[in-house]
Amino acid sequence: MGLSGMRVWKLLPVSCALLLASCGERAVPSIEIEGPTMGTYYSVKVARPPLGMTTDALKLEVESVLDKVIAEISTYEPTSELSRLNANPGTDWIPISPELHDVIAEGQRIAALSDGAFDITVGPLVNLWGFGPEARPDELPTPEQIQAARERVGWRKLELRASPPALRKVRGDVYIDLSALGEGYGADRVAADLDVRGVADYMVAVAGTIRAKGLNPKGQPWAIAIEEPLPDQRAVHLIVPVSEQAISTSGDYRNFFVKDGKRYSHEIDPATGAPIERKLGSATVVGERAIVVDGLATAFMVLGEQRAPALAASRGIAAYFIVREGDGLRGVASPAFEDYLARSKSE
Ligand code: FAD
Repeated sequence: MGLSGMRVWKLLPVSCALLLASCGERAVPSIEIEGPTMGTYYSVKVARPPLGMTTDALKLEVESVLDKVIAEISTYEPTSELSRLNANPGTDWIPISPELHDVIAEGQRIAALSDGAFDITVGPLVNLWGFGPEARPDELPTPEQIQAARERVGWRKLELRASPPALRKVRGDVYIDLSALGEGYGADRVAADLDVRGVADYMVAVAGTIRAKGLNPKGQPWAIAIEEPLPDQRAVHLIVPVSEQAISTSGDYRNFFVKDGKRYSHEIDPATGAPIERKLGSATVVGERAIVVDGLATAFMVLGEQRAPALAASRGIAAYFIVREGDGLRGVASPAFEDYLARSKSE
């Protein structure tokens, strides 16, 4: 397995060492916190914190927001609202919280946009291949097991109602996995909390998904590095300035296992029931909300190096793809991503 337990960053908040040009300037006061969450890590940086904000108070606040998210949508937490929903074998309407409704609604929107490549009901396959809360079996799943799991999968097997919020499963054994949206959702929730507290300059990262506002302690946009999609080393491929946006990278190079010399990624193609096999090493998306860019980045990985850039171009999505070619890597920017970088440079 590539990783066990904690996941590592695919997007890196860039340090001074990588931004030599900015390092001569005087920094203003800032607070930085980090810690474990959702089987991975979070970090929050606040520049120019409001009067009276302390490191300890910020940590308590951020971790309580993230704990609420876990209590709502974690499949790793048996008592979460989502786990209870998954365990409910009924096919009647089940009342759900507005928060869970909104995350599922976003998942359904991205499923429709990606023609089902992104699918929050893919959980039985994720678990079968050993990427969910259960222990990974020693043997690969059999075609019969894959077929049985596929029968439970399909985003159209869910019906969602907004008012009052409720969900209906077409089959009682449909299982929802919100892992591809959860980090972004967590970053959005922390950002909303910081907004309410009057924080004007922050960067919130939950694993590979980052939401930023305002400027860093040097008075410049926050700088985010996209890594090269290489499993055995860390190298910066591109630095992206982010000021009022969210950015997320999904890839197949950190969370995978190897069996008989073949690599199996945690991103599952619902069309085949198996881990994706793509030349696409990573997909990065920039946009307003972290939940959206988090989900789109996963959707693009599943769509692959041909269909993902085409979808990003047709929908005006700012996306950057790193494609493996022979021994090298090729970066592919969508037109909206090129515009974004050009605008950032001219500001
Ligand atoms: P992303 O690309 O963002 O998402 C990939 C994940 O999405 C896959 O791992 C799979 O779960 C799912 N997926 C695969 N294929 C598809 C598809 N076609 N469509 C939609 N989704 C797909 N992990 C732990 O190990 N321990 C924990 O305690 C834990 N707690 C969590 C709590 C919460 C609230 C959430 C949201 C996640 C938790 N996780 C936990 C999972 C972990 O944090 C990551 O979310 C997961 O590893 C994938 O994130 P990623 O950024 O690596 O990949």
